[in-house]
Amino acid sequence: MWYLTDPDDLGGLLPDEPPFRARQLREWLYEHPVLEADQMTNLPQPVRDTIGPDLWPFSVEATQIADEGTTIKWLFRAPDGAAIEAVLMGYRKRTTLCISSQAGCAMACTFCATGQFGFERHLEAGEIIAQVAFANAWLRDHPIERSPDHVTNVVFMGMGEPLANYDHVREAIRRMVEVIGMSARSITVSTVGVVPGIRRLTEEPWPVRLAISLHAADDETRTSLVPLNKRYPIDDLIEAAAAYFEAKGRRVSIEWTLMAGINDTKDQARGLAAIAKELRAHINVIALNATPLAPQERPSDQAVARFMTWLDEFGVEATLRDTRGQDIDAACGQLRVTQTA
Ligand code: SAH
Repeated sequence: MWYLTDPDDLGGLLPDEPPFRARQLREWLYEHPVLEADQMTNLPQPVRDTIGPDLWPFSVEATQIADEGTTIKWLFRAPDGAAIEAVLMGYRKRTTLCISSQAGCAMACTFCATGQFGFERHLEAGEIIAQVAFANAWLRDHPIERSPDHVTNVVFMGMGEPLANYDHVREAIRRMVEVIGMSARSITVSTVGVVPGIRRLTEEPWPVRLAISLHAADDETRTSLVPLNKRYPIDDLIEAAAAYFEAKGRRVSIEWTLMAGINDTKDQARGLAAIAKELRAHINVIALNATPLAPQERPSDQAVARFMTWLDEFGVEATLRDTRGQDIDAACGQLRVTQTA
């Protein structure tokens, strides 16, 4: 309940305490979070005891560490049984947390592990923000060597479609920016193309980074990968992304999960380059992390390199993303496979 309550209303949960307690608690929850209430040193013991048992809106079911301590994946479990996964990745100049916005996902993208399991439920704003707070609390006790000691970047690239859970995602972003004090520019909302959600995000005061999961340059191919494309085809998506760029002055990113024989051809590279130019977008290419339930295959390293060369020839900037956490099933699109399998 502590994270499930608006940070400005915490006083209501401590009716017998003086008003400054709520401010102290708010700091412990958001600004310098700790893993256990007993670490909240300026709160009296009875208050710590009250907070202790349900400080977090979930329990930690598993913690897995890979890539020499620089990738940490958590499986959290909400009291109703919903699984929530988050992945922390330490780099030289940033510490990035990949968070979930829903338990499961209704989008049913044919290559994504989460998509194969269907939708369970939306996450509350408090369940979303608590993933960030938990990672910060963890980092305080277990810093990642040579990486910032707190979460500097958040990406909504875990389970779920953030723009299909708009209000809760919005409130979580608000708390990241206004309460934790993160820069909106360091928060990335990745969407499969929920056009009305992109339009709403365009109206918000925060210049968060928008990533669109494009994956194909023509509607037929895209619909076979991303069923939502039937409802919001590529042209509509490009239009909404262009309006976002115009309103925020922030370049949009295009995510492109490369799949053998499907979207790794020269034609697709040409189509992608044209779209990226139109949007002045940056392209992130990632080779598919094959999941047991999906039919698509990861292209060879050679095919990936060839695709990158084509993009270069067509005159667009693209980054080949490394895939962290493969050995702990923490890579993009892999969340939610192992504990259910
Ligand atoms: N629903 C949002 C955010 C979650 S998915 C979206 O679609 O953008 C985050 C990213 O991981 C998306 O770009 C998605 O296409 C990609 N992804 C999903 N499954 C993948 C897989 N098996 N291998 C590589 N990337 C994958």
